[in-house]
Amino acid sequence: MSKVNLSIPAVQIREIRINSITGFSGGAKELVSCAQGKEGCGLKDKARAFTQCVGCATSKAACMTILVQDGAVISHGPVGCSSCYHEFAFTYRVNSPLRGVEKPTQRKIYSTNLTEKDTVYGGNAKLEKSIREVYERSKPNVIFVLTTCAAAIIGDDVESVCDEAEEELGIPIVAIFCEGFRSTVWTTGFDAGYHGIARKLIKKPRKRRDDLINVINFWGTDMFGEWFAPFGAKPNYITPYSTVDSLTWSSEAAASVQACSTLGSYLGAALEQEFGVPELPTAPPYGIAQTDRWFRELGKLLGKEEIAEQVIAEKKAEYLPKIEALKEKLQTFSESREKPLTAYVTGGASHGHALLSVLGELGIEAVGAAIFHHDPLFDNGEPENDQLAQRVKDYGDVPNFNVCNKQEFELVNVLNRLRPDLLLARHGGMTLWGAKLGIPSLLIGDEHYSMGYEGLLKYGERILETLENDEFVKNLEKHAINPYSKWWLDQKPNTFLKQRGAKS
Ligand code: SF4
Repeated sequence: MSKVNLSIPAVQIREIRINSITGFSGGAKELVSCAQGKEGCGLKDKARAFTQCVGCATSKAACMTILVQDGAVISHGPVGCSSCYHEFAFTYRVNSPLRGVEKPTQRKIYSTNLTEKDTVYGGNAKLEKSIREVYERSKPNVIFVLTTCAAAIIGDDVESVCDEAEEELGIPIVAIFCEGFRSTVWTTGFDAGYHGIARKLIKKPRKRRDDLINVINFWGTDMFGEWFAPFGAKPNYITPYSTVDSLTWSSEAAASVQACSTLGSYLGAALEQEFGVPELPTAPPYGIAQTDRWFRELGKLLGKEEIAEQVIAEKKAEYLPKIEALKEKLQTFSESREKPLTAYVTGGASHGHALLSVLGELGIEAVGAAIFHHDPLFDNGEPENDQLAQRVKDYGDVPNFNVCNKQEFELVNVLNRLRPDLLLARHGGMTLWGAKLGIPSLLIGDEHYSMGYEGLLKYGERILETLENDEFVKNLEKHAINPYSKWWLDQKPNTFLKQRGAKS
């Protein structure tokens, strides 16, 4: 278990705190065994001798702060570092109906616009001025200040500037240390955002509330409201669509659950260790087996085991026959093509593993995956939270399992070799590669969509729909130009993956 330390301004990076890696090529079972230290193999990260692109931790911290309803965000750095932040204003607006936010307000996103001159003379004064101006212009209840590489390199004292401004303005000014070069694992940005929130916004509980359960998540559909109702509780969704008030008193909740353990690992641990909110010690509910375990653990945690059994029985009575009927349709489709259905998954760690479980449950063979990084164990140190281990245990191994931080050249190489019947993704920009190769590709950004018994049915129906409607991708394949050369497509996909420290 990692130890949360809120007395220091910056969170410890993920590769040191929980030994996360960004390079691996092999099988899912092998990865799980290595991560658990079994079979004599410790998990060793691999580096790439060639990298096409990487993500940045600032954008991960940004998505967890920009969507706080009554907050404002300042990127302290060159304006280019915040060039992707507008995406979260879009996300906030289009997903607001899923959370009952009727009139989504304009997002308050700013940049100190550090220039070359500022990198010589320092950016502290510019940051001080920006914080005052943002306060005057938007009157937020909190201002988050996100650091960038330039601000970190020149050594601006962001923490002191924020503390002084907080005293002057009387609202929390939260410094978040998320500059891209701090970590090779960009999800460190989530941890950095949560660290700042836990230090400056969350207060010690006044009381414990049995009727409130924290759901650490992105911006998916409100599934948990209906699920928690029989337990006499409601969800406190954090941090997208939360408010300063709901974050502050998340410390009073009866429990915290994760929609994606990769996302909320650090905040779940911080709420448990520093504020006494227990975290559900099992992976999120994807696939029937894990959904059963999830409801049972929730019942146990809340001391309401009988209600959990009742919910499981009622939901299974309603959904299992429908899921069986869907599986038969998929089977018929597969028989019409005289070969078993196969699929490939690309996504972030925990959610990618969840989609592999969904495939396992629907009887579709997962022939491989490109997962953006791997956390051997999350901050709570619970082996039961390891969604990939659950997937392997419940549905078997996944071959061609690559830990690949969105290197599209590797993805295209693998897809070209495996030619699966289906590509599943959660992130924009990934399915186009399947489509260009004529592979029906499904992108669903709502991470709650495939959760639970009902989610399995909904997601499975979308899979069937995607498989049955492949004319567009088949036509696209005929006309698409593949930018990768035959030379590269003939190489092994992991050609550039080397043990760290080895000569390339
Ligand atoms: S890696 Fe550094 S320079 Fe690049 S966007 Fe992120 S913070 Fe800015």
